This record gives sequence, structure tokens and C-alpha cells, in this order.
Amino acid sequence: MDLKIPGLYIHIPFCLSKCHYCDFYSLTSISAIPAFLEALFKEMEMYRNRFHPFDTVYIGGGTPSALNPQQMEDILMSVQKNFDLISNPGITPEITVETNPADLDRSFLESMREIGINRINIGVQSFDEKVLDFLGRRHSAKQAISAIEASRKAGFCNIGLDLIYGVPEQGIDSWLDTLKQAAAFSPEHLSCYQLTLETKTPLGKRYQAGEFSIPGEELQYEFFMKTSEFLEDAGYNHYEVSNFARGKEYTSRHNQKYWDHSPFLGLGPSAHSFQCNQRWWNHPSLDRYLAAINAGNLPVEETETLTMEQLRLEALYLGLRTKKGIFLQDFKNQYHYDLFTEKKEMLDKLQEEGFISIQDGYLYPTQNGLAVADRLSLI
Ligand code: SF4
Repeated sequence: MDLKIPGLYIHIPFCLSKCHYCDFYSLTSISAIPAFLEALFKEMEMYRNRFHPFDTVYIGGGTPSALNPQQMEDILMSVQKNFDLISNPGITPEITVETNPADLDRSFLESMREIGINRINIGVQSFDEKVLDFLGRRHSAKQAISAIEASRKAGFCNIGLDLIYGVPEQGIDSWLDTLKQAAAFSPEHLSCYQLTLETKTPLGKRYQAGEFSIPGEELQYEFFMKTSEFLEDAGYNHYEVSNFARGKEYTSRHNQKYWDHSPFLGLGPSAHSFQCNQRWWNHPSLDRYLAAINAGNLPVEETETLTMEQLRLEALYLGLRTKKGIFLQDFKNQYHYDLFTEKKEMLDKLQEEGFISIQDGYLYPTQNGLAVADRLSLI
């Protein structure tokens, strides 16, 4: 039985326009929002009693802020009707909503606070208009600034900003300027993602056609190191490859669940779930999602049962992306594998080369190790 506390993810499959780099499932026509919500509430009923109480709810997408406040409130009311949320003196459920700066006016934000959202994530991506234009974002830098200021005024004291680096033609100076502007608002959390070019996206296609080049490995390394250095100096803890928090209490409790094999339930088209050694995901199509639910079935596209070896490799991959790293004794108990003895030679070598450190029973990446975390896990 899994004793870790599960998290709940809700995928809102609508965006008012599609960003050029995005391969998440979302539709730009919002006429189906009412039908989607009706199906979502039924999906919640289908999972009633199948998960222990949640301590995080993450409404992501897509663009949840494409919904109106009443629709958001209906979602949270349905969550409360169908599931238990842990609320002890020491634990308040973390309830996050992802938003687009263009949607955030004061009245929307105040409504979010009133219905119980206590963490807001704003997809700023950059304060450089040229970069926003290249990425195909539907908001300006000015709108991002207003959105952050309005979020504070509305009373949010846990604000996260998403930023993207490694964009073609974006020099280190433009990126550092974006970081400086972001840090000036003292957000509690920052996610800094390196741009990835998925083949089916408009940017991926333009890249394959040779229209632009992307920063090489050395430059990417420089972006990564400068980001870490700048934000650590500004008081942030670089706690995961792409994530920074202004204090332990502001690390993303929900995302932590993905990194430490905690169970999570994902609702909505394309959402993934995980429990024990099972992973399943919903149809990445609103039509098929609606059809399944309206026929009384779970909208599951596929289920995968992970072997102990697969779980172990995943735990290694995910653990080495976090600064805290892997507690070797827990790893041994959970995955029946003694990393310390089985991989001793490789661990010694990586330690000598300065990529990892082993201390107080933890195996964790150094700053250089975090920069190449994906490769580290191949040990
Ligand atoms: S807003 Fe987010 S989910 Fe929507 S298209 Fe842009 S990146 Fe994708």
C-alpha cells in the first residue's frame, strides 16, 4: 500500500491561441467548455473513493484562466464533493492554477482567491517582446508585469512565474534581463525551462526546415549556470533542474509528487495518473474523452504496469534531477537495489569528476551534475 499522499491534477484542454512551441493537448475553440465541464464532473464521480485524501490540487492545461470564475468555482466545488482534501493544522492543501498573463485582471484574481486558490502560476516566459513574438505568446511583457502586480494586490502570497530560455536569437543578456525583471517582483517560485523543439510543433517544423539554429551545448550550459548563479544570489534555492523557490515552504508540493513516485490522479483529456506500479493516461482528444464518459466509461487511452526495474530507473532519473538527490537506504528498501554497492565504480568516477556527491546517506548531483542531470541517470 502506498503511504505517500496523492495529488490531483486537472487538465483544462483550451487555449485561446496556440503557442508555436507547444505540444500539450489543447483546443483553441472554447465552445465545448460546458460539455467538457459536465464530463469532468462525471469523471470525478467515477474516481470517488479510489484515492486517499489529496493534499494538492493543480489545475493546469491548456489555459485554465480561459475559464470564467464561476466555471473555476464549479470545478473546485466538484472536487470537494467527490474527494477529501487533507486539511490539518500543519497542512493546508496547495491549490494551484496555471494562468496566462493576458487573462489576469483584478476581478478574476480576486475571484480565484475567494474560491480557495492559494497558489498562482503565471506563464510569463519572457519580458523581451521579440522572444514572446518568436514563441507565439498571446500576451505582451507589459501585460505580464500588470498580471504579476495585480496578483499581489489581489492577495496572492504564493506566486510562481514560468520562464523560457535558450530561444534562438535570445542572447544571455536578454535572458539575464528577464531574470532580473522577474526577481524584482520577488515571486515565491520560478520555473526556468530550456526551450525544447518538438517535431510536430510550428517551431519544430521551422527548425527542421533549417530556418534557425538553436544554442549549442556550450551555450545551453552557460544559460543554465548563469540562471542558477543569478537566482541563488537573489535568494532562491535551485531545488530541481528547472525549479527555484524562495524558501522550502515555496517548493511546488504538487510537482514533488511527480519526482518521488507519489500517487497522483489526472483528470481531463490527455491527463496522466500514477498509483502503485500503474500508470494510465486519458484520451488526448476531447471528442474521445467526451464519448467515453458519456457512455459511462473511464476515458483511459492506455494503462501501463511498470516493472520494478522500470520504477527503479525512473526513480534514479527523477531523483538525480533534484538537489536533495536520492536517500540510498530508502532507494534500497523501495526498489530492492543497492545503488551504492552495485554501481560503486561508476559512482566513484562521477564523484571524482565532480558531478555527484555522496553524503549523510544521500546521493545528489552537484551544480555541474544538475546541468547534465539527464545523462547522469544513465549510470
Ligand atoms: S498557453 Fe500553454 S498550453 Fe496553451 S498553447 Fe501556450 S504553451 Fe501550450
